[in-house]
Amino acid sequence: MAGLAAARKLPPSSYQIFEKSRGPGGRLASKRIEQKRADIGAQFFTVRDPRFQAVVELAHSAGAVQSWEPRLGTFRSSIPVDSPDTQQRYVGAPYMNALGRFLSQSITIKSETRIVTIRRNGSYFVLTTTTGTEYSAEQVLVTTPIDQMADLLDRFEIAPIVTQFTMEPTWTTVVSSEYQLMTSRQEPIDACFGGDHDVFDFISVERSKPGRDSDLIVVQASPEWSKAHLERNPNWIAQKLATELTNTFGIQVRPVLSHRWRYARPTDPKMTAQKGIYQVDAGLWIAGDYLAGGRVEGAYLSGFEAAERLT
Ligand SMILES: Cc1cc2nc3c(=O)[nH]c(=O)nc-3n(C[C@H](O)[C@H](O)[C@H](O)COP(=O)(O)OP(=O)(O)OC[C@H]3O[C@@H](n4cnc5c(N)ncnc54)[C@H](O)[C@@H]3O)c2cc1C
Repeated sequence: MAGLAAARKLPPSSYQIFEKSRGPGGRLASKRIEQKRADIGAQFFTVRDPRFQAVVELAHSAGAVQSWEPRLGTFRSSIPVDSPDTQQRYVGAPYMNALGRFLSQSITIKSETRIVTIRRNGSYFVLTTTTGTEYSAEQVLVTTPIDQMADLLDRFEIAPIVTQFTMEPTWTTVVSSEYQLMTSRQEPIDACFGGDHDVFDFISVERSKPGRDSDLIVVQASPEWSKAHLERNPNWIAQKLATELTNTFGIQVRPVLSHRWRYARPTDPKMTAQKGIYQVDAGLWIAGDYLAGGRVEGAYLSGFEAAERLT
């Protein structure tokens, strides 16, 4: 998100983007599962800033973003209760990474190219890929999550950032189930915040989102639970979260897959860098959600601000 936001503001002939994955979107991710798809990263996003609003409206007009109005619940004393609110929420359509794809139209990305080192060579920076190919650039913007940034920039003075900003992991499990989620008072819900539950952080029913027609439910574990079980086998995680869902809601579910996000969200979203960006060295900038309060919107605005500093 941060990298795409920056690229959209810069003349295409002035930059090159390196992306380690096959497609754009990063943590705005969806995964194909048994002829269906499920969002396995961000589940929705909100909009506050007019600069983000403008691009969300464009994506909405193009059909890549839709409003999502789930019947919401939360956990109180670990019991599911309803929790309606008036927050406007959006999702990519038909999947979260549709927003990444929309933003990357007319942007050329060198995909499946992982940068492993960045060093200075006089007035230039040299970027090296896993295959040893080198690229040089006058300026560099790094928009990876913080731990990957720290690996890439270990030759630079990044202590002021890495001592202050950290990120938390999330285990995501996808299950299939034909049953409706209900609160303890038998009100139907489409999504449920973790509230005071020890295990859950967010649960969402895919078919409640526009354009999805599946029986998949996405379960995200709390940062504490995810950290405690970080190195567990994905099958163990899937079984455990499926059982927790069955015990909590009294529904039958079939675990389908688990995905571990080592760097899902900032530990303290209230802590931000000024404008959500940081200059590591002359011509070398970092941006991303961890400097900008987390969330999709934070990442976008951070990249947007960074582009204004790249001349
Ligand atoms: C499970 C989960 C749930 C979430 N829920 C929400 C939510 O409900 N609402 C919300 O607003 N936000 C949510 N978020 C957060 C949101 O997804 C992020 O804030 C936002 O997508 C981050 O964007 P970014 O550009 O900063 O980083 P990323 O999306 O992580 O992008 C970084 C990119 O860098 C690439 N990369 C990494 N290392 C290298 C390398 N060495 N070389 C080349 N490329 C590299 C990655 O592949 C990736 O594409 C959630 C995140 C997770 C994981």
